[in-house]
Amino acid sequence: MKLAKRVSTLTPSTTLEITAKAKELKDAGHDVIGLGAGEPDFNTPVHIMDAAKEAMDKGFTKYTPSGGLPALKKEIINKLERDQELTYKPSEVIVCIGAKHALYTLFQVILDEGDEVIIPTPYWVSYPEQVKLAEGVPVYVEGKEENQFKITAEQLKATITPKTKAVVLNSPSNPTGMVYTREELEELGKVCLEHNILIVSDEIYEKLLYDGNKHVSIAQLSPELKEQTVIINGVSKSHSMTGWRIGYAVGNQTIISAMTNLASHSTSNPTSISQYATIAAYQGTQDDVEVMRQAFEVRLNIIFEKLNQIPGFHCLKPQGAFYLFPKAIEAAKMAGFNDVDSFVKALLEEEKVALVPGSGFGADDYVRLSYATSLDLLESAVERIANYMAKVA
Ligand code: PLP
Repeated sequence: MKLAKRVSTLTPSTTLEITAKAKELKDAGHDVIGLGAGEPDFNTPVHIMDAAKEAMDKGFTKYTPSGGLPALKKEIINKLERDQELTYKPSEVIVCIGAKHALYTLFQVILDEGDEVIIPTPYWVSYPEQVKLAEGVPVYVEGKEENQFKITAEQLKATITPKTKAVVLNSPSNPTGMVYTREELEELGKVCLEHNILIVSDEIYEKLLYDGNKHVSIAQLSPELKEQTVIINGVSKSHSMTGWRIGYAVGNQTIISAMTNLASHSTSNPTSISQYATIAAYQGTQDDVEVMRQAFEVRLNIIFEKLNQIPGFHCLKPQGAFYLFPKAIEAAKMAGFNDVDSFVKALLEEEKVALVPGSGFGADDYVRLSYATSLDLLESAVERIANYMAKVA
């Protein structure tokens, strides 16, 4: 069977690939420490699970409107008002099956063949693939390490062509953990307005900020920027709800309406029970969100210091999310490898530590470690890497 062209260039998600390989070794009885995961290691807070159980007991197990339950849209609107002082109407909100599906649906409705989407590197693995699936063309701009892996307004300007349709901003960033400041967003926003470019603002790590950093959405900066931005967010990372699959997009009504139409013919609606759980997530206490954030910050501060002491690893301190993104090419070379991919493979096979090579994020010389795992395991993992370097270097 010859498959469609659109899937022939699709590359599997590196993150899921390494997680699968680590699981295979684990199942074979090896003591593997996986630092590949992109999900919090905490249970979903109890009051959210209770709401899901109650929804089932009450029989809320049927189709919902395609764009999401009105009561959930209302909670999302309240959340945006509360956290970002942004006002949206229900017609400007769509609830999707995770933030990933919100992004996928968005690219499907805004891109025609050959339309360009500017993606800063290092990027989250799915952006380029989703753009390609919509017959768009990903255009990369390097977020340089000396600029904390962020792109500048000048770089953005220089990359724009008549075919540029959108730019993706992800702050806090996966994989780098870096955060754009208000001033940087203002400068980028100015360029986008001048050239009429849609801003896709992926704010899924909004709640995971450290060292007193505060989240700013580019949509907050002016009414014009609000109109020019589609915000992507969800509860996967903030409320440890990755498996519930609830995310959303908010923005221009015409775009949201097209997304809702598309969803009505592809997925019908996000799971009804998960939607009720998400209502509880936004209505209830946000204390659990803060408890998880604090736990991540404790881990970050300990593990960041230790990792930076390992020869050949150089890491900027992340300001958000739950990843460290050190440059590791020097370590790879010291261990006798030409590239970080081979080094990561050797670490998994010999030390049973699973990291994700930077190649999957468009930054070959780097490696991503997730600290969404217990401090004990994190410390053992770093010790294993240090031992390996002591052996081979
Ligand atoms: N955006 C970024 C930057 C992510 O890291 C992820 C998940 O890893 C997503 C979107 C997708 O989130 P969800 O699980 O809600 O689909």
